[in-house]
Amino acid sequence: MQTEQETALGAYAPLMLEHAPAGMALFDAHELRLLAANTRYQALLEPQWQHGHALGHPLIEFLPRAIYTEIAALFRGVVETGASSRMEAYAASARLGEARYWDWSLEPIAEQGQVRYVLLTIAEVTLQVQAQKSAEQARTDLAQAQQELELEQQRHGHLETILLSVRSIAEPQAFAQALLCAIDTCFSPHLLALYSTRSEQETLSLLASHTPECLPQETPVLPAFLAGTSGGSLLEAMQQRTPLIRRTSQERETGQEGSSERDTLLALPEVACVVYLPLWRAQGARCEGVLVAGFATEEKLDALVVPTLSESAPHLAEALAETWLQAALADERQRLRTVLDQLPEGVILVEAQSGKVSYANRAAAGLLGYTLPHLVGAPLNQSAMMSPYRLPPAHQQSAFRWNFALIHALWGKIIMNEEIVVSRPDGSEIVVLSSAAPIRTSDGLITEAVMVFQDITAKKQLEQQKNEFFAVANHELRTPLTIILGFAELLQMQSPEGADTMQQHAITRIAGECEHLMRLIDELLDVSRLEQARLDLKKKYHDLLAPLSQMVATHNQATNTPRLYLTLEELEPVDCLMGWFDLLRIEQVFRNLLSNAMKYSPAGSEIEVGVRPRRDAQGRAQEVVIWVKDQGMGIDVRDLPHIFERFYRAPTFDESSISGFGIGLYLTRQLVQAHGGRIWAESTKGQGSTFFVVLPLGKTT
Ligand code: ADP
Repeated sequence: MQTEQETALGAYAPLMLEHAPAGMALFDAHELRLLAANTRYQALLEPQWQHGHALGHPLIEFLPRAIYTEIAALFRGVVETGASSRMEAYAASARLGEARYWDWSLEPIAEQGQVRYVLLTIAEVTLQVQAQKSAEQARTDLAQAQQELELEQQRHGHLETILLSVRSIAEPQAFAQALLCAIDTCFSPHLLALYSTRSEQETLSLLASHTPECLPQETPVLPAFLAGTSGGSLLEAMQQRTPLIRRTSQERETGQEGSSERDTLLALPEVACVVYLPLWRAQGARCEGVLVAGFATEEKLDALVVPTLSESAPHLAEALAETWLQAALADERQRLRTVLDQLPEGVILVEAQSGKVSYANRAAAGLLGYTLPHLVGAPLNQSAMMSPYRLPPAHQQSAFRWNFALIHALWGKIIMNEEIVVSRPDGSEIVVLSSAAPIRTSDGLITEAVMVFQDITAKKQLEQQKNEFFAVANHELRTPLTIILGFAELLQMQSPEGADTMQQHAITRIAGECEHLMRLIDELLDVSRLEQARLDLKKKYHDLLAPLSQMVATHNQATNTPRLYLTLEELEPVDCLMGWFDLLRIEQVFRNLLSNAMKYSPAGSEIEVGVRPRRDAQGRAQEVVIWVKDQGMGIDVRDLPHIFERFYRAPTFDESSISGFGIGLYLTRQLVQAHGGRIWAESTKGQGSTFFVVLPLGKTT
């Protein structure tokens, strides 16, 4: 019997079903026939089964074939077990096309202990599931991005560690050690080595290695030195610009394991993969070296290790090449130092910026009277505290403190063969011949100055003694000579009764040779004076043309000598060539040139004395060129550069007729230069010589 309340509920049941938020349907348990269904459920069916058409039909008829079997099995399960079945987010329609999801429940309804009906509740949850899925995807993406970011940060950190480790290391071995330590810190490889390519040898040589303790330090798998053609993976890596990676897993796949082609490092226990990183500079034309790293696992190999190493490779290659360059430079510097240290000459280098002595060799310290440690590093202005004003008079002209030469060089001046008196800390003095010059960078900046000097004290003393000897000899020789000459001239004037031509000739010769000897003694004295820098010129404003013409005329009076003639260019015989000269000295210049021309020319030949002024734009004579041109024996090209040297006589010359010391031209040049002029000779052997003298006419200092 139904209660009144139950009847009311029964009447409302279809209405409640209709308003349920899910699809609901009642099936009989025997044939799975649809007994009742609300609109929500029917809307899920295919169009022809909607609107009550499915009512009374079994499930097999209105469910699509593709899902029937699976769903029918679920119904039967519920009927047989009497237990309800629930399914969340069931993708029942996944196989039908687009993914749709359902929450299901099958409730058995039993009567007298037997399941008679099955109540299906179904709600579509596709949107929720999709939302959930995309949230999950977003979470995974985020986690991945985070992981990548972390890896990126690690890569940067490692890269920095690696590159900083080798910064400003100039020595290749130290570079290699520092690099391997840094890589060890970053990736803890099982085995590490750095090979470098030496261009001269075209080979790889081991710079440094970290091998596992179980292996001997110089294990054969890390050859210390590789000749050009062997070396397996190492040489293969050199040929490519990207890292060469060898893996045990890969060898297993290709069946190389155990074969002779197998990578030797992979054969080591605990080495699962080896990275051979060729080091190429960004613009490099050759591989600078290879870094070898063996790892126990492949973990992070592709994600972290290889990318970091690849990125560091060009920088490492650059730095490695630089270390070799620095090493070569250091070697070169050492070689130079050794040479300089052994030199008998003193060498001092001063730094422009600090003004301190940056280098001095042993000879320099010895000559200057300091110890090396005292000299090197000392500021230039504290060295050589010697005043030039306390010098002996003979040195005053050329002497100045040795550090002045360096200071001048720092200012850009080049000093050649300057004589400097050095007064040493112990009070002794030496004379040095020094040259100094600035050292510039390629763009002209002066960074240092160098001074090279040698002790010429002994030479100077010898010269001093020689000059003193000359002065004494001059006096001692001149006195008897003057007497002989006097008597010879007396005899010439008062020819004794009955003196025959032979005697007359003898007296003339005695007088002639005496005069010649006098001239030689004069020359010697001049040279000795010159060397003591005591040749004082007495310059006055003179005409030069008249004395020259006079000299030519006087020479022509002598017979049996070559004939002289005067050539005037751009000048009239009556013109004047006014200038500042010590006339006696200028006459001595031309007397020397004329007497040489006559001495080295045959009788009957001609000698030209030419004069030509050089004028400025206003026509005023600025300089005068004078030449003496003979038709004599000429001067060999080998002698030409030396004829102005002291005591130089052309060795090709016939010794029997030599009548000088080889100082005439030396003296002549000194006199010309003292007047601010120049002298040179042009000559061809056997075709005469021409001597040119250029003298300024203005007042020179
Ligand atoms: P010397 O006293 O030997 O003449 P100089 O100094 O005057 O010394 O000359 C040096 C050398 O130059 C001479 O020995 C000679 O060989 C050469 N010489 C100078 N003038 C002439 C010249 N006019 N013709 C050829 N040789 C000359």
